[in-house]
Amino acid sequence: MSNVDAAQGDAPNKKLMVRCPSCGVMHAYSTDNPYRPFCGKGCKAIDLGAWASESYRVEAKPTTEDLLDDPGV
Ligand SMILES: [Zn+2]
Repeated sequence: MSNVDAAQGDAPNKKLMVRCPSCGVMHAYSTDNPYRPFCGKGCKAIDLGAWASESYRVEAKPTTEDLLDDPGV
């Protein structure tokens, strides 16, 4: 008799679990999920919104005119 423990860990029905980057919940990674690596549509929308507002913040810099408006002495 031989025990074949080596087969363990590579079960074909084992799903890859990933953490949603937005809400942090663990869910099964599936190519059937159009929102991967997010857990769902809502989390993907939140992430895209965060990226958008981040780029808007980068745009909002003080202008050169503001820096040149120093009254001096
Ligand atoms: Zn999520």
